[in-house]
This record gives sequence, structure tokens and C-alpha cells, in this order.
Amino acid sequence: MSNLYTDDLAFDREHIWHPYTSMTNPLPSFMVESANGVHINLASGEQLVDGMSSWWSVLHGYNHPVLNEALIEQSKNMSHVMFGGLTHKPAVELCKKLVRITPKGLNKVFLSDSGSVSVEVAMKMAIQYWGSKGKPTKNKMLTVKNGYHGDTFATMSVSDPTTGMHHIYSEALAKQYFAPAPTIMIDEQWNEKDVAELTELFKKHHDDIAAFIIEPIVQGTGGMRFYHPEYLKACRKLCDQYNVLLIADEIATGLGRTGKLFACEWANITPDIMCLGKTLTGGYITLAATLCTNEIAEGISNSEAGCFMHGPTFMGNPLACAVANASIGLLESSDWKASITRIESYLKQHLVPLNTNNRVQDTRVLGGIGVVETKSSVNMAVIQKRFVELGVWIRPFGKLIYIMPPLISTHENLQTIIDAIKTVLNEDDCFSS
Ligand code: PMP
Repeated sequence: MSNLYTDDLAFDREHIWHPYTSMTNPLPSFMVESANGVHINLASGEQLVDGMSSWWSVLHGYNHPVLNEALIEQSKNMSHVMFGGLTHKPAVELCKKLVRITPKGLNKVFLSDSGSVSVEVAMKMAIQYWGSKGKPTKNKMLTVKNGYHGDTFATMSVSDPTTGMHHIYSEALAKQYFAPAPTIMIDEQWNEKDVAELTELFKKHHDDIAAFIIEPIVQGTGGMRFYHPEYLKACRKLCDQYNVLLIADEIATGLGRTGKLFACEWANITPDIMCLGKTLTGGYITLAATLCTNEIAEGISNSEAGCFMHGPTFMGNPLACAVANASIGLLESSDWKASITRIESYLKQHLVPLNTNNRVQDTRVLGGIGVVETKSSVNMAVIQKRFVELGVWIRPFGKLIYIMPPLISTHENLQTIIDAIKTVLNEDDCFSS
């Protein structure tokens, strides 16, 4: 058994790309045998408490009986049929749910395969909408720095142009408009000055701009920053004032993580277009959705093309829709807000005090998200191995050690994660000097 997995790891290292990883000098990957509840079980025998929810996606824990059953039952019926000309109950049920639970006014749903694709779809919708209104030159995007919207070409073009990982491709990317990142955080005093430069960009360039795209409240990969809801409110106002569509990228924040079902609720706004992904299937299978208003859908449908020009092969995959239905069902039948509040207060009480450590720049918590920002970057190879030795799965990047554990995490699970972070903060070799 142990030999087998050593051979597999050797093959993996030699032949398989992992995310954001070198093929010639890859960081080690750990072989997972199974995952259950909040635990990831390694083939080498360690059991890790998960702090990452597999990049924000696992909500109710791994290997959940209700989600397993939804998947198995659906597979007995059909695993996939094309969505062109055909439809099915799992998709209809899911879209009914999404229209019901998302901010009022988002009535039309486009299902796709991944978060990045759902953002591409949103951008295409905005451009095609303005084309249908006789304004084909309104085809640029406006956004803020420190944003992240995906890894495909269009989404890279609206992700942070300098600090983001996509600067490598900048010469090949569409040129978009960037405002400074919000500087006033959610717990600070609001000041209109924070939107001054953004306002100028709207004023100057609105004739070229199809949509303003932003991650509501939480700038994730671009720094794990929690900005002020008044900023988002101001964005909605500016979009209305200057005839620009508002795209809310709720891929990371949607379905509960920030303490609201959707982060847009912090500002009580409805975007014109909203993207969902990650948590949509409770972390089971890839699925994303782009929702838009009737106005946008009608504009596009009455355009010269007469339709929206997009249609992925696996659009509306029944297995994914069935699990998504079960996952949203679990969320709605549970007191998820109480779970988030419980996690939030525990993190505020026990993670935030790590800010007294000399190595720490800042600690912050919002809903089920906890962040320890360090003064120097982590040494990935060392810190990752240490976290595994300490019995937790946390995958930091740059100066950010961040967690968003599954909702079912107990105080004991959270403490294990916090203790591991506390330990590595005192180990010099886990950080660059
Ligand atoms: N937008 C945001 C805010 C994200 O966090 C991510 C994923 N990290 C994406 C888009 C892209 O989603 P995917 O990885 O599923 O393509």
C-alpha cells in the first residue's frame, strides 16, 4: 500500500501540473486517501483538520450523506444530457432556488462549468447588452485594484494588473480601467474620499464602459481585504448615474461565508449581474451560475444575434445541479447564520489576538473567514509541511495565512487550526527573512 502511493506521488511529480506550480521544481503534493466531515485523511496516515474548505467550496463538510445520496440518486437517473434543446428537473429546481434566494431582480440564470467561465459570461452579457442598445463602443470593464476574478483571459484582464499573478500575461490581455482598491475597511469610519478616483473614472470613461466588476465586501485572492459596505453602495449609485452595469462576483462570498447569504446584502444592493460558483455544490463538483435582470436578458435577446452567444458542453449538468439543490437545501434547513456567528466569535476571540506576535502585521475576521497577515512572506515549502505535521490543512500565499473552515467545524477543530498558526508564527524557517 505505502509503496503504491509513493509510486503514484512520483508519477504525479513527474507528469501532473498542480495549480500555480512549477513542473520542474514542484512543491510537494500530499496524497489524500479520503475526506470526511472536517477531516482530510492522508495516505501517509495523518488526519488533518481542514481550514480551507478546499478553496472556499466545502460548506457542510466532506463526504456528507445527504450530498452523497443526491449524487448517487441522480446518477441512477441520468448523469448528463446536453442542455441545447433539452432541460431537466435538477436544473429547473436549482434555478428556481437561485432566483428565489438571490437579491430581488436577478431573474435569469445562465449555468456554466466554473467560476472563471461565469465571469466571462457576465462580461459577454454586459457587452452584448450594450451592443443591443446601439452602443457597441461600451465594451470595456472598470474595476478596482487588488481584485481577482479568475484565470481565463478576460477574467485576468480585470484582476489586479500589478500585484496579481497575471502581470505575466499583461501584454496579451484586453486593457481595462482600474480604480485604486478600497482603503476603508468594514470596521473603520466611512469617508466618501474613498470613491473619489473611482468617480472620476466613471465620469471620464463611462461611454466606453459596459460594466463595473467587483468582489462584494471581500477582496479575496487580491489580499483578503474586507472593505466598507458604503463603498459598495457608492458603486451601485455610480453605475446607475453613469449607465454602467454592475457585476458582483460572489463566487467566493456567496452562500453564507461572510455572515450574509450574499455579500451584496451588506450594502443592500442588487447588482445587474451576479456570479456564483465554489460553494454552489457544497464543494462536490464544479458548477457556476451567472444571474442577470430581465432588462439585460431582454436586451440581449432582442439584439441582432437574437440570443446570447454562449453554450458550454456541460451546461446545467444534472449531477452538479442535483448536488447543488441538496447543498442549498441543507443550508436553508439549518441555522447556518448561527454556525457562522459561532465561528466568527471564536475566531475573534482566539485568532485575532495573534496580532500581538512580532511577525504579524494584522489579523482580521469576517463571518467564517479569518486572516493572519504577516510582515514577511511565508516559505511555502516549509510552512506547508509544518502545517501537515501539526495536523491541519492550511494553504497560505504571500503574506497571508487565511482560513474559511467548513460550517460544521467545532471549537476544538478551530482551536487546532489556531494553535498550528500560533506555532508556525514562532518558527523562523516558515518565513522569508
Ligand atoms: N472569482 C473569485 C472571486 C474567485 O475567488 C475565484 C476562484 N478563486 C474565481 C472568480 C474563479 O473561479 P474558478 O476557480 O472556479 O474558475
